[in-house]
Amino acid sequence: MKTLIDDTTVVQNFDKNEIRHQSSILINEDGIIEEIGNSTEFSDRKKDFNILHMDGKIVMPGFINCHTHLTATLGRGILEDLAFPPMLPYPRTANSYLSDEETQIMATLGVLEGIRSGTTTFVELGRDVEKYASAISDTGARFFLGEMMTDLTYNVIKAGNELKSKEDFSENLADQAYARAVNLFESWDGKHRDRIKVIFSPATADSCSPSMLQKSRELAEDRQTFYTIHLSQSHQEINGIKNAWNLKPTEYLDAHGFLGPALIAAHCRYVDQQEINLLGNFSVGISNNPAIAARRGAAAPITELIQSGCNIGIGTDNMAEDMLEAARTGYFAERVRKNNETNPTPNDVLGWATTGGAKITNSLDTLGSLYVGKKADLIAVNFKKPHLTPNLRVVSNFINNGVSSDIESVMVQGNLIMHDNKILNIDENYIISQAQLIAEKSWKQLLGSYPNLDMPVQLDDI
Ligand SMILES: [Zn+2]
Repeated sequence: MKTLIDDTTVVQNFDKNEIRHQSSILINEDGIIEEIGNSTEFSDRKKDFNILHMDGKIVMPGFINCHTHLTATLGRGILEDLAFPPMLPYPRTANSYLSDEETQIMATLGVLEGIRSGTTTFVELGRDVEKYASAISDTGARFFLGEMMTDLTYNVIKAGNELKSKEDFSENLADQAYARAVNLFESWDGKHRDRIKVIFSPATADSCSPSMLQKSRELAEDRQTFYTIHLSQSHQEINGIKNAWNLKPTEYLDAHGFLGPALIAAHCRYVDQQEINLLGNFSVGISNNPAIAARRGAAAPITELIQSGCNIGIGTDNMAEDMLEAARTGYFAERVRKNNETNPTPNDVLGWATTGGAKITNSLDTLGSLYVGKKADLIAVNFKKPHLTPNLRVVSNFINNGVSSDIESVMVQGNLIMHDNKILNIDENYIISQAQLIAEKSWKQLLGSYPNLDMPVQLDDI
């Protein structure tokens, strides 16, 4: 049966500020928006539909998180304060102590936070994603999954371990990485009526050889999908690429034919004007991850990247999954960075978090805004709150004053995955209680395994 979201206010498109009042949205059995019109136009046909009352809430496009690592929830409250790459002295990570089931729980925890903050689509990048793909897909959210690939013989995501030499790459490691990535594609791409898609994800500019860059782009293009990499994320990365290749990170990617419109470059915190021009010349998509960047004392040059021709999306990256907070941090950070009191605008920023994300994930024809023919990926926000009253400019009010708990319902492809504040497909209390136990256990194991190494921050009671 078709679903009618009845008599509501609809923000159809954030960046164009298209808002309709007293409107209804008719969604067909495939989860596609079939009609949007004045509520009175539907009054004679209501008996034919499943009616969804949103009781004065405002319906908006769901957020597209263009860059995250869901299992990094294990580092919450710890890694935010340890810089990047993290200043941990240990040869292993806390995540390396998790069983497959524990990894699934930590990833699902991240999705829960994301859904509660209005996220309908996640670009999730991880190692051995296949271990938790099924668990996160059970939440009902939409995913682009990428298996992180590297062919470097050591881990540069550790302070002091910077790339030293162009000789430090391994063909054997590359082949293993391609096999994992292709397996993920074959197992998951197109699953659940295309709700799950697979992309290619060479990890970072300093951990991939020239041949891995070339092969990753080919793997994506052969399968008509997109590809992504971390770029200009840390000074260590910039130094390492200078050591090994005598280039800047963006120049290194360009030298090996990696730049293009199907690339999402995540971060771009420290790119200079020459690198910005290169990225713009190839219309590269940028995942701006402003909340984690701010925690690192950084802000990507978003205005300049847009002026050069780049398209912008928003991501959360590590530890937190709150897209409303990430978007708001991007709004604040860019105004502060440019000493500009009026730009970017609320519509710009919420546009990046929706239509911008749709554009750089090559999904603008189906996601990012609410029009006939698009997928019904949407959220319902309760504005009847002290901090949102009066409500005379919905978009500005939401980004300036809203909090994620104002988002009360979330729908993906016509199916509610949260309604009236209740998560529908998974046992939220179980995930939260287990995640706490898993984190206590795994951090205790890590610290206990290396009693002679100094943890740079104190954990409570462990
Ligand atoms: Zn990342």
